[in-house]
Amino acid sequence: MEKKVLSGMNLAEIQQMTVELGLPKFTAKQIVDWLYRKQIYSIDEMTNLSKEARRKLSEHYVLGRASYLKKVESADGTEKYLFPTAKGTVETVYIPTADRATLCISSQVGCKMGCKFCMTGKQGFEGQLTAAEIINQIYSIPHFEHLTNIVMMGQGEPFDNTEQVLRVCELMTASYGLAWSPKRITVSTVGLVPGLKRFLVESECNLAISLHFPLPELRAEWMPAEKAYPIQRLIDQLKEYDFCRNLRPGEARAGNHQRRLSFEYILFKNINDGEKHAKALIRMLKELDCRVNLIPYHTIPGAALQGVDEAKMKAFRDYLTHHGLFATLRASRGQDIEAACGLLNTAHQQKNNQQPS
Ligand code: SF4
Repeated sequence: MEKKVLSGMNLAEIQQMTVELGLPKFTAKQIVDWLYRKQIYSIDEMTNLSKEARRKLSEHYVLGRASYLKKVESADGTEKYLFPTAKGTVETVYIPTADRATLCISSQVGCKMGCKFCMTGKQGFEGQLTAAEIINQIYSIPHFEHLTNIVMMGQGEPFDNTEQVLRVCELMTASYGLAWSPKRITVSTVGLVPGLKRFLVESECNLAISLHFPLPELRAEWMPAEKAYPIQRLIDQLKEYDFCRNLRPGEARAGNHQRRLSFEYILFKNINDGEKHAKALIRMLKELDCRVNLIPYHTIPGAALQGVDEAKMKAFRDYLTHHGLFATLRASRGQDIEAACGLLNTAHQQKNNQQPS
């Protein structure tokens, strides 16, 4: 009989499991503590459980934790980790700054969305990650204890794997789990509406929308998901929700709503960097409490696209800001190790794939 995976189970499921295995009631809380508060790699390390309890657990379950296969370090301090999963390998990026330690995690092996500027899009879809495989990326990096933020912006479209992604949000924020504030977690999507709607109801984590092209025809050309889920329709739906207000410099109003909404915008030379694009973006977002993150583009093989220089990025930001749309520049990190935005791809590494323990 194939053993089940403990990691990724919520408290109610673990309580049910202890009943089924005939374990004392209090062991459920002990198991959850080991799973979500400590970095262990085997059931045997659950030392406050009796030997008999560990034996019963091991008979039916595995922990579901896996060490990374490889780590690469960038000159700027960014680190990229390669993790094994049942469907192939995935990449996870650790981005330290002076006041933050952010981890960018993957939700799928490859991706179905086919965005033409993205290396993961070129890889194609190879499989869904389980909640255990997603959360393993968080627990199994050496910096786990020091992480301040999680962004689900690695490989894959989170709302094409909604059930598992929502489960990870629950485990990260539940009092029995990591008890993180949902404000420290951001999930990024191209805008798959069914999953997004569930996320807005079932989670309080921050939301980031990969917008990139404010003109629908242009967006459909580069991001096929636009055809099924038009961005304008999505934005009209977002207006029905109450998002956190981003205070502009000198502004005094209270920013006290539930979560932050941001839009990701990679600037491509002569494609989406003109005044008409800035104007369309302002028109599109002006009624939302949101921010725009402007991201530098890194050329990928086979894509006829170029990034813009820093002066152009600043000018674009200033235009948005002067017209009332709060915008920030995101620094490029980890480009030398292909860890920067849009560069993650594990297709060439699948031969070395290993299964989680
Ligand atoms: S940008 Fe995101 S959604 Fe688009 S192909 Fe890449 S990983 Fe998938």
